[in-house]
Amino acid sequence: MVEYNPFTVAQAEVDRAADLLELEPAMRELLRWPLRELQVRLPVHMDDGSVQVFEGFRIQHNDARGPTKGGIRYHPAETIDTVRALAMWMTWKCAVVDIPLGGAKGGVICNPKEMSEAELERLSRAYIGQVGRIIGPDRDIAAPDVYTTPQIMAWMMDEYCRLSGNSDFGAITGKPLGIGGSLGRNDATARGGWYTVREAAQELDIDLGGATIAVQGYGNAGSYTAILGQQLFGCRIIAVSDSSGGIINEAGLNAEAVLQHKARTGSVAGFPAADSIDNGELLALDVDVLWPAALENVITADNAAQIKAKIVAEAANGPTTPEADPILYENDIHVIPDFLCNAGGVTVSYFEMVQNASRDQWSEEYVHQRLDKKMTEAYHTVGDVANHHGVDMRTAAYLVAVQRVAEAVALRGWV
Ligand code: NAD
Repeated sequence: MVEYNPFTVAQAEVDRAADLLELEPAMRELLRWPLRELQVRLPVHMDDGSVQVFEGFRIQHNDARGPTKGGIRYHPAETIDTVRALAMWMTWKCAVVDIPLGGAKGGVICNPKEMSEAELERLSRAYIGQVGRIIGPDRDIAAPDVYTTPQIMAWMMDEYCRLSGNSDFGAITGKPLGIGGSLGRNDATARGGWYTVREAAQELDIDLGGATIAVQGYGNAGSYTAILGQQLFGCRIIAVSDSSGGIINEAGLNAEAVLQHKARTGSVAGFPAADSIDNGELLALDVDVLWPAALENVITADNAAQIKAKIVAEAANGPTTPEADPILYENDIHVIPDFLCNAGGVTVSYFEMVQNASRDQWSEEYVHQRLDKKMTEAYHTVGDVANHHGVDMRTAAYLVAVQRVAEAVALRGWV
């Protein structure tokens, strides 16, 4: 199996878009690198009295369209290249849904599963102690990502406000509701993805009522995808999986009941009234919509020819390798690319910032309405470019996003 350096892949994707857009060399060079990178050491007093020094990053890829925005990951295998790639993808994601933000990402190399609450709080405050000097509501806005939670965001926001002396709630999004979080954030990624699938289904003449769905991954993105598919459109969720295995029932699974089973047992596997299925088989099911909602690089040159779904909706980041993409395209499989399909999360985070800045709280219904508008417009803008240039949806999404950022860079006179 090929090992992908995510940053090399991210740069290759920009290069391709830059070729098609015939961008000048200086513009390309600017867009294929982050503008700013901060690498920090964080001494943290551990519960046993020792001091452990953690390594962390905050990387701001491009702020030509507005302050940068992106999550913070706590992971033992974090690398600077992963954070660089994710920062760059955030730039394209914000641009494709046309919100006035750039892209950033942060990370700390640590194993949160082995740390106590108190240690996590001290680490989170230490991170803001260092990174606080380059973030802020008008500079760079942080958010949760892998293994960081609303509680961690609450500590970070508190530390940021302590340092600035202001009630700068908007410096961090993904906060709990009681301190400026937004309604509608929890299911925003899945909901936003469904709005794009609804538009795609209309174009492809697929009736979503009773349409068959398979979902790989049953975490935040995957479980809400299954639940909303049933609730909003009456889809038939025939197969779902997680890291411990998968389940299938052609008559349809009750997505809420599967979630409760997972909460009780730790996995979707073993759900009553369903047969087991492995992750490889799930990807190859003949369904209307396949949702990879777990990991990167699961649809590869090796299995792309076996994919039979009519629509592949990429809730996960990077589920399809660059080699698999053309195979899906030739087989007429309609791929809604990750940074378009899963942009609902950052869009509602942006709504959170806007509510914080105006000291307002929107109703859930209003959040859904505005999210629908953003996602639907973005889907059709990308679709029109795909049709116009005769390219796949991923290439078209890059063309839209890179063009918007390049335009802002040029208007500001940087290049
Ligand atoms: P999560 O940790 O809540 O869930 C991940 C799920 O994937 C878990 O159910 C896990 O068991 C499952 N999984 C892990 N390995 C697997 C395997 N080998 N086969 C099948 N399932 C496996 O994470 P999440 O927040 O739902 O994120 C999932 C993906 O969606 C990631 O790529 C993430 O970057 C992307 N995403 C999430 C959001 C969001 O708002 N949560 C926003 C944008 C993108």
